[in-house]
Amino acid sequence: MARIAFDVHGTLDHDADGLLMSILNSCTKDGDDVYIISGPPTEQVIEEVTALGIDVACITIISVVDWLKANNVHMWQDDKDNWWCDEHSWWASKGEICAEYKIDMIFDDKIQYKKYMPKTTKFVLWEGTTDVSYYGKGGSSEEIEEL
Ligand SMILES: [Mg+2]
Repeated sequence: MARIAFDVHGTLDHDADGLLMSILNSCTKDGDDVYIISGPPTEQVIEEVTALGIDVACITIISVVDWLKANNVHMWQDDKDNWWCDEHSWWASKGEICAEYKIDMIFDDKIQYKKYMPKTTKFVLWEGTTDVSYYGKGGSSEEIEEL
């Protein structure tokens, strides 16, 4: 069975027509291993995916922040309690997680993660389809042009 991973911010939460959710549901129904790989601490990711209607019993959640801490990457919090680390460690994290968990395919809205993916992981850039208002707010389109 395949191991399929999904990002949350800009990806599962930018799925206005439900296409990505139907892919996720098909994967769990077919017995594939479904992973959520998302930035915030695990408890926050659990709340966010539950709010999206995903049954956390059917998936494995991997928090990038928790994974970086477990791998001894230096991290700090800003005055809003958001966690930060150096840019290279951040962008390399999902590729290293995909290597560790032998992920076959990942859906993510940030192209910056792609160059760190192992050759065995297919990276699918999610562009949010119908929700065009997302681009320009988060700065994603400018970042993509830079690369
Ligand atoms: Mg994202």
